[in-house]
Amino acid sequence: MSRNALTNSDIAELLALEASASGRPMVSKALRKASRAALLWPVEVVDLLEEDRSLTELNGVGPFISKTLQGWMDKPPKISAREETRKGFLTLTEARSILLTNPKWKARYKGDLQMHTVSSDGSGTLHDMALAGLALGYEYIGVTDHSKGLKIANGIDEARLECQGEQIDELNERFRKEGQKFRILKSIELNLNTSGQGDMDPTSLEKLDVVVGSFHSALRKTEDQTIRYIEALDNPNVHILGHPRGRVYNYRVGLTANWKRIFDHAAKTGTAVEIDSYPDRQDLNVDLLKLARASGCLIAIDTDAHHPPQLEFVELGLAAALKAKLKPENILNFQTADKLLQMIKPS
Ligand SMILES: [Zn+2]
Repeated sequence: MSRNALTNSDIAELLALEASASGRPMVSKALRKASRAALLWPVEVVDLLEEDRSLTELNGVGPFISKTLQGWMDKPPKISAREETRKGFLTLTEARSILLTNPKWKARYKGDLQMHTVSSDGSGTLHDMALAGLALGYEYIGVTDHSKGLKIANGIDEARLECQGEQIDELNERFRKEGQKFRILKSIELNLNTSGQGDMDPTSLEKLDVVVGSFHSALRKTEDQTIRYIEALDNPNVHILGHPRGRVYNYRVGLTANWKRIFDHAAKTGTAVEIDSYPDRQDLNVDLLKLARASGCLIAIDTDAHHPPQLEFVELGLAAALKAKLKPENILNFQTADKLLQMIKPS
């Protein structure tokens, strides 16, 4: 790749800027979509061109956008700092080149602790998600359907959670009989209110292996939100704080808080903070992870997959963790299931 060429990250930014500038809604929509897709292109545009391949091979790129990209590559426009909602996102090609600097890093990953199934807003069954995890060589997955307060995502209530637990027991028994070293952990993505409290009966949560607690409301507040995080970390039912900032690529910047104080408090309560590897989230990102490293709190690297193939998004989170030089012993997913359960629920 030549040194001055635009990267996919630059192109994602240019596409988003062009989308904002376009007065035609359909064109703008296509450009926004391509900007998001650029985060996941498997090859750098400059390398594709060097190989004389067509840019329309790339997801989200039709003849019109292909022409635009070609123009930018021939005469690279100047890009100033990234717009606020697009700062600090890795592209897949960047993530893969970071991971190449330490080939053993990815191999340490033993299982994903946030994903959704058909029981809430995912497309795969429990079994589908388990098979996707097995195919990646995992030892476990944590299934975290949304809890009942998140109606828009078909949140699961106590009775359905109980029923899911029975299905998990049956599947785990089947894996054991088949001699597979693999288990599904019982979990949930507990919807937290702005006081850090969940929406499920605590006795039903006690039967779970892991609880991921996440904020899904009041995410556009601009004033400091440190207190709600401290309250969530103090909630004894929450083991992992999911997608902490609540940011979404090119859409929402996420919450503002005193992150050092939050990570120090997480270290004290033994709560893990998450790297949600979903491409649009990448939450926490590298800069905040460096702060988290200094505090020594536990970290979970998850994908928040809503479809089985999305488990592969984990490369983005693994790369962010490696770039931030997180300590492997603090990463839950680098541990066996028994070890990680003991780390989040010390007896
Ligand atoms: Zn969530």
